[in-house]
Formats: sequence, C-alpha cells, structure tokens
Amino acid sequence: MKEKIIYNFVQSTKDIGNCLIKAQAVRKNSQTKTLSVNFSQIKSQIISKVSSLTSTKKVLVGLAILFVFYAISDIVSVEADAHTQNSDVVLNQSQLINIPSIPLMSFAESGLVGSEQFIEKTVVVKKGQTLSGIFTEMGLSQGLLLKIAHFNEDSKKLVKVMPGNALHFTLTPEGDLTQLRYQASDFEELIIHNDMDQLSTEVVTHDQQIRLVNAQGTINNSLFGAGKAAGLTDSMVMQLANIFSWDIDFVLEIRSGDSFSLIYEKVYKDGEYLTDGKILAASFTNQGTKYEAVFYEHKDGEGSYFAADGRAMKKAFLRAPLNFSYISSNFNPKRLHPVTKRVKAHRGIDYAAPVGTPVYAAGGGRVTESGYNKYNGHYVFVKHPSGITTKYLHFSKRAVKKGARVKQGQTIGYVGATGMVTGPHLHYEFIYNGVHRNPRTVSLPKSKPLPSDVMPEFIAYSSPLLTRLTDLKADLIAQN
Ligand SMILES: [Zn+2]
Repeated sequence: MKEKIIYNFVQSTKDIGNCLIKAQAVRKNSQTKTLSVNFSQIKSQIISKVSSLTSTKKVLVGLAILFVFYAISDIVSVEADAHTQNSDVVLNQSQLINIPSIPLMSFAESGLVGSEQFIEKTVVVKKGQTLSGIFTEMGLSQGLLLKIAHFNEDSKKLVKVMPGNALHFTLTPEGDLTQLRYQASDFEELIIHNDMDQLSTEVVTHDQQIRLVNAQGTINNSLFGAGKAAGLTDSMVMQLANIFSWDIDFVLEIRSGDSFSLIYEKVYKDGEYLTDGKILAASFTNQGTKYEAVFYEHKDGEGSYFAADGRAMKKAFLRAPLNFSYISSNFNPKRLHPVTKRVKAHRGIDYAAPVGTPVYAAGGGRVTESGYNKYNGHYVFVKHPSGITTKYLHFSKRAVKKGARVKQGQTIGYVGATGMVTGPHLHYEFIYNGVHRNPRTVSLPKSKPLPSDVMPEFIAYSSPLLTRLTDLKADLIAQN
C-alpha cells in the first residue's frame, strides 16, 4: 500500500548516540498519530526493507532518508533558541516504517480554547512576493505551507495567489496558525482551518447571477469594429469567431455586409457586472452563407458547439491556421489582400500578418519536418490522418520539433519573413494524397452528428434559441 504521510516534527531531542525523535505524523486522511521512536531502530528497519527493493526504489529510499536527516539536523540546530520550530517531511509509508498508533490529545484538551487572544493579520500580496516569503514573514514554517498546498483540491487554490490578493491569517498567541482565509475566485472564499496541525478546508460561495444578453451586428469595416458597435468586448468577438473557425476563414473571407447575432451570458456578482460568460447560441452569415451554432452539454457534462443538424462545429481542420486577432483588428475587408496574386506555381495561400502572429496546426498530427532553408525560411510540415499534409513557411521562429505530436490549434511557429519573401506572411499549403488543394475551398470530411437518441432532446433545446437568433436578425433588418 502506498500512502502519503506527512511527518510533522513538532519536538525533538538530541541524543548523540541514538538520535531520539519525537514526532507527530499526520495522515492525508486526517488521522493523527504520534511517533516517538529511537532512530537507530528505524535505521535497522529501513536497512532490512531496502535490501528487498529494486535499485530505483533504493535511490528513492536513500533520498527519503537524507531528507529525514536533513530535517532532523535542522530542528536540532534551531532548538536552542526556539522550541516551536516545525519541519515537515513527506515520505511513503511503504518505504519507511509503521507508525505506532498513539492517539493525540483533542483540541479542547490542549488548553487553547477560549483562554487566549487570537491574533488577526492581513497580508496583501505584493508583486514579486511569494507565499513562501509571506509564511516566513508570518513566522510560519515552510513545512506547514507545503502541507497546506498538498492537502486537498481546495487548499491547492492557495498556490494561485496573485499580487493584490489578500490573505487573512488567524494566529494563536504563540504564533501558530489556526485559520487562513483567502478569496480564491470572484465567487469563492477559501478557509483553511488548522486545529493542532490537523487541516480542514471550507469553501464559502458568494452569490452570482447570470443574465442572458442578445447582440447583433453587421460588418462594415472590421469584425472587431462591428463587435464593438454591438456592445461586445474583443474577447467576446474572439469567442464568437472561434465557434465558426472550422467553417469561416476570418482572415481572408470576411466581407462588408457579413453579419452575426448571438445570445451570451453576462455574469453579475451581488448585482454588479463582473464578466462575460459563454455564448449560448450564435449565427454568422459569411458571403451569403449562414452558419448557426448552439452550445449543448451532452451527457458527459462537457459542453461544446453543435450546428442545427446536430453535427459538431469542431472539425478536423481549421479554416485559417493562425490567430486572426493579430490581423483582423486592422483589417479592411474592402481591400484586396496584398500578397495574394503571386508568380506561377504558387500552390498555397498567403496570409499577410504581423511578425510574431501565432500560427496553429490546422489539425492534429505529427510534425514531419521542422527546419530552415533559403527558400522556405523557417518551416514546419505536419502529417495528419487520411493522407493529408499541411505546410507552413517563412516563420520568424518555430515552436515544434520534428517528430512531435501536435494538437489542432497548437502554436507551431510565428509569422515571419524568412526565406524568399517580400514581406512578413504565412505561406500555407494543404496537400491531399500528394495533390495540392485550395485549403479555403477543399471539401473536408463532415464531423460526426450527435447520437440519434440524443437528437430529440437537442432539437427541443436548440430550436427556441435558434428562433430567437433569427428574430434578433429580423429586428436588425427592420431597424435599418
Ligand atoms: Zn506563398
């Protein structure tokens, strides 16, 4: 059995010959036991166990023993001036010893309850300040911090403190921690209780309300401009575009007159607007073709976007393999692209984009080439299933190595102007069974639809949302 045990050395006595330790051991499941043993006995137990282990385990055990000795020497050396010094060691039970079961006295018996004044201290985290530094300033041990950080999923949130966050400490008159409160997120306060070195956590949730908001717009100059006019933040515009990024090339295909409508969440806390939530339903009409999507949670609880016919919006290939936000914010769709018409034998698409624009793997696959030559500059080739290869040229910097597996949307490099080029751009090729295809028009395999038994529920859920989107659009046209 492998069980993680945290040995919290609360007290130690130095005995040159035998190195006698008294320690408290706290199990992960909160059972508390006290350890009071002669180290020379442990040593013989360790030696007998080690001899039956594999070499890898021997190294681990060796490290664990060194760690114990280190911890002990630390306690012993500071004992002269502080009797409350703590030090924690994490070991595997199977690698060390069985702990004698001695019950620890309860909190009430310890004499701490009601007899003294507790000390409240609040620390606002400064830039560059670490939790470890804060614990030291508060006179608390690193061992305790380690113990809290590893205690459970809630207590792990403490590790994510950011500058500006406040930590509220409650200490005993002796300076021991009894409670630590921390606003873990906009809606959650985390409280860590420490009763006689026995940890427990509590999460207090604040009220939040989600309101559904409609928005619609028509593109005149840019998608981001139209988004702003419709009251959307740039990140909401990105969220909208990402839903349709398998169908629409947001770099090259957006035109004046394209339109969108969406229903999305706005999150309020105690009545005040806090942030945007997710898009529940959206439609986008691109060059006369209308695309619709609804967010739907299908059994496993992890939702994603589906078209009205129940097919996933996510498909095997992205239309434009780069982060269009670097481009479209200044992109005028009325203007033709500067790097499109090229010399003969040009077999790809060129995306004019600023140097440094992240380039994504259009689909999942394996990197077959990642290199440099004087024609391609820095380039990456990716092989996908079903005989498809995609090529990406003229990077300023490559982000993947030959042989690496890449996921769809993973950054594989950054737009640059290396090789034979006139300016910074991404040259993108799509090759199917050895034949170059136009990635903007090639017909790609359709995604799988929802299982037929789920369809009635999906249609019942999605139809009213889609009708509402269409109504929004009608309103927009009527207003114009
Ligand atoms: Zn090109």
